[in-house]
Parts: sequence; C-alpha cells; structure tokens
Amino acid sequence: MTSAPVGTDAAMDVLRKVFGYPAFRGRQREIIDHVVAGGDALVLMPTGGGKSLCYQIPALVRDGVGVVVSPLIALMQDQVDALRTLGVRAGFLNSTQDLSQRRLVERQFVAGELDLLYVAPEGLGVPATQRLLESGRIALFAIDEAHCVSQWGHDFRPDYLGLSMLHERWPDVPRIALTATATTATRAEIASRLQLTEARHFTASFDRPNIQYRIVAKNEPRRQLLELLRTEHSGDAGIVYCLSRASVEKTAEFLTANGITALPYHAGLDAGTRAAHQARFLREDGLVMVATIAFGMGIDKPDVRFVAHLDLPKSVEGYYQETGRAGRDGQPSTAWLAYGLQDVVQQRRLIETSDGDLAFRRNAAAHLDAMLALCETVSCRRGQVLGYFGESAPESCGNCDTCLAPPESWDGTVAAQKLLSTVLRLQRERGQKFGAGQSIDILLGRTTAKVTQFRHEELSVFGIGTELREQEWRGVVRQLLARGLLAVEGDYGTLALTDGSADVLRGTHPVRLRREAERVRAPRQARAR
Ligand code: ADP
Ligand code: ZN
Repeated sequence: MTSAPVGTDAAMDVLRKVFGYPAFRGRQREIIDHVVAGGDALVLMPTGGGKSLCYQIPALVRDGVGVVVSPLIALMQDQVDALRTLGVRAGFLNSTQDLSQRRLVERQFVAGELDLLYVAPEGLGVPATQRLLESGRIALFAIDEAHCVSQWGHDFRPDYLGLSMLHERWPDVPRIALTATATTATRAEIASRLQLTEARHFTASFDRPNIQYRIVAKNEPRRQLLELLRTEHSGDAGIVYCLSRASVEKTAEFLTANGITALPYHAGLDAGTRAAHQARFLREDGLVMVATIAFGMGIDKPDVRFVAHLDLPKSVEGYYQETGRAGRDGQPSTAWLAYGLQDVVQQRRLIETSDGDLAFRRNAAAHLDAMLALCETVSCRRGQVLGYFGESAPESCGNCDTCLAPPESWDGTVAAQKLLSTVLRLQRERGQKFGAGQSIDILLGRTTAKVTQFRHEELSVFGIGTELREQEWRGVVRQLLARGLLAVEGDYGTLALTDGSADVLRGTHPVRLRREAERVRAPRQARAR
C-alpha cells in the first residue's frame, strides 16, 4: 500500500526533510516499516523514547489521514501547532472547539487535506464522528496512552473500551497502540481489549539511565525537600507530587515562602488556573510544579531536572511513569521519594476502606506491596524497577541511592519480636488494639497520659525497647508492615498480627532490616563513652 517508488526510502526522507533528524532512534525504524506495510503494532517505550514518530511518519508515508486517538485533550492544540510549524497538515476534533472550527476540520478531512487528525476517545463513540471517518480515507489508527484501556491501571478511561470497534469497522486499516506503562499483564490486557491479538509487539528498554533514583525515610518532608532543592537543584524546573490537594497547596506555599517559584496544580483548581499554571511551567525556566498525579500525563518538557514524591505512589507503574517525566532531554536528573510509616498505614487503609470489590482490593494490595518492596530493597533500585517490567538488569547500576551508598542491614529479629509481643500482649491480655505510636511509647517506657489511662506501664513489655530511638522503632514497624509481618486495620490504623508474625515470634523467621539512613549519617554512639 505504500506509495513510495522502489529505490527510495520514504520513511527516512520524511524523518530528515520534515522532522529534521538525521537518524532513527532505537526500534523506530522497525516499527515504522511494519506499520507502513499495513501491520498492527503494540509499542511499549518509555516516556521520551520517541513514540510519536512511530505513527506520524507512517501517516505521512501511507495514503490517507492518520487518525490519532489521545486522551490528552488539553495538549491537542499544542501538538497540532507543533506539527503545522513543520509543514504537516494536522487538525483535531474535541469538545473544546466551537461548531465552526469543527466544521472546518471535518471539511479538510473529507477533502483529503489532512495528514494527521487527533481525536478524543469519547468523540469516536459518537455515530456522527464514525460516519465522518467513513467518508474519508484513513492511513492508520494510532491509539496513544493505550494503557488507559486497562481497568486495573490508575489511568483507566471507560471510552477506551469502545476502541475495539475500530478493528470491526475498519478491518484493513493498520492500528498502532502506544504506551509508556505496561507490565506483562497490562500488555496482555491492552492486546485483548483492543483486539490487537495479531499485532507485533515492540518493546524498548524501560531503562532511563540518566535518572538517579533515591528513596529516603520521611521525617520532615517539606524541610527535606527544601534541602534537596537548595543543595542540588537550585534554579531547576521540577515536579513535586503530593497525595492530597491540601498538601499540594501547603507545599507550594512553603516553597514560595522559602524563595522558590512554585505553583500548585490539582483537580480542585478551576480549569483556567490549571491551564495557566501548566503553561507557565512549560514556558518559564526553573519553575517548580507542586501537583497531585492529575498533572503530567503527556507533558513534554525536556528539562525537568527532578521529580520529588512527598507521598508514596500506589504502584511501581505510577512511580515509574511519574519519575519518567524527569530528564527527557537525557541530562542527569533526580527521582526523589520520601516515604514513611504513615504512608504505609494510610495506603493500606485506603485499600481496605475502598468501595472496590475483593478482586479490586487484592489487586491494589499487590501493587502496593511491589511499591513497598522497592522502597525497602537493599539492592539496586533500577534493577528492581526494570525487573518489575520483566526486564533483566545488571546487579548494580551505579546511579541509584543503594548502589551509590549501599545501605547497612542489621539483625532486627529481637526488635521485631519485641514489637510483635507488644501487639500480642495488648490483644491477648487486654483485648485491645492500638496504632504504632502507642506501641512505640510502651516499648520506650514512656508514661504518657494515654499509657497511664490504659495502665500500659503494667505490661511486661513496658520499657523493653530503649535500645532504639523512636525514629528507629518507626522504621521497624514500617519494614514489618511492608513485608506483611505485621498488618494495619480499620479507620485508626491499629496494628495486628499476621500469619507471618507467628514465625518471627517463634524465632523461626530471622528478620534483617535496612538501617535508616539518618543513623548512618550520624554515628553518635562512637563519641559517647
Ligand atoms: P514519547 O511520546 O515516547 O514520550 P516523543 O515522541 O515526545 O516521546 O519524543 C521525545 C523527544 O525525542 C521529542 O522531543 C522528539 O522530537 C525527540 N525524538 C524522537 N525521535 C527522534 C529521533 N529519531 N531523533 C532525534 N530526536 C528524536
Ligand atoms: Zn542501582
């Protein structure tokens, strides 16, 4: 079907003449050839890998219009403008247009005056749009952000489920689905839901070698963030992710008060403010965007130097996708995450109290467990992330915190037993359940009002844990929770034993714990004699 005469290389011509690049990157060439020849493709490539050319070039080489399905309505205008400056005839159809703008694009499409047409997934479900598409000639369908079809993913868009009709109505038009997030399971789900069972899979390495992964224990998150920005990223553009709108606002105010240009972004702000903040982030240098995960999908800003998480992401996919917004230009960048006991308690509680059914909660818990394992690992973070995506990696990458400063581990078996006995005794002897704070107060032998009120100073475990400081005990609780050797329950995040706890208490399950970074830096004991 390709109209290129023998002896010329149409794809290479377009790459050079239209886009101005000398060579293809990675597997672009293979993918483009496959789609130009009429094949279906499922492309997995990390953010910044160069997915757009994989459908833009075939759309230009093949007869007809390339129809691009994208959920990123807010970016369509920018994408189309960028293509037009290169001389590509591009247009879009979405709900932001008025009728006359829409009619113009429709006329251009029917007249064959477009190379690329961007449409929103909800638009494709409308019969009028389908009739329109049937009245023109289509070169290919590109389905961008294809993981939105996955019901288990955090970007699920119900309209994506309807996209399987593309295959039924246009069986001869090649389809290329693209995403930057996909484990083996998501990949299979995309292929089956979009009826891409015949599609060839193209998987690029997910490694982002210029991103330095660091995960630290959360003490005073905003102060820790400020220190990171001042010491390593002064004047740099970056994104700070927070879980809640309130904490987005507070963090943005805090940074501003400390002389850093920071703007908030979350779904509670009106559309105008969001658009204005996003535009400033894209255009100005050195701006810090403090945001919920509502921000960032499809944002193509090459020089984001850091992505900081003040709260724990719900999954490794989410973490990878969010941190992947750093360093698209290939320059050294930082992915920094502060994570603490409260994160584990909060996330487990969110799952437990969610409206989802059992399957949903199990799935969410499995995702969280993988994220926790990444936080607590004593081996290479990059290796762990890549392994999660089914990719093998060298033992040490040399560019993550665990490779740069291998964490010490210590035999935490006795500490774990003390903590678990406290939980056990409260439950057995008193029929009570408490959160981490009370258990730690008991271990440290603190006679707080709450200890006195419940006569916890009479427990045999009272004061048996003074060899560790509060911060260290919190680390023990967190790591046991992360490994399922301890559980949190209910609205108050009370501690409870698990099946695994019994083995620790019996002494048949030794527990090695990761030493908290703070203590590594301050070897105080050496001085006190
Ligand atoms: P993705 O959609 O995978 O995140 P993009 O398609 O936006 O990535 O490409 C990321 C950047 O790399 C863009 O600035 C793009 O122009 C550039 N790029 C893509 N392919 C090439 C290439 N073959 N040579 C040079 N630059 C490229
Ligand atoms: Zn590493």
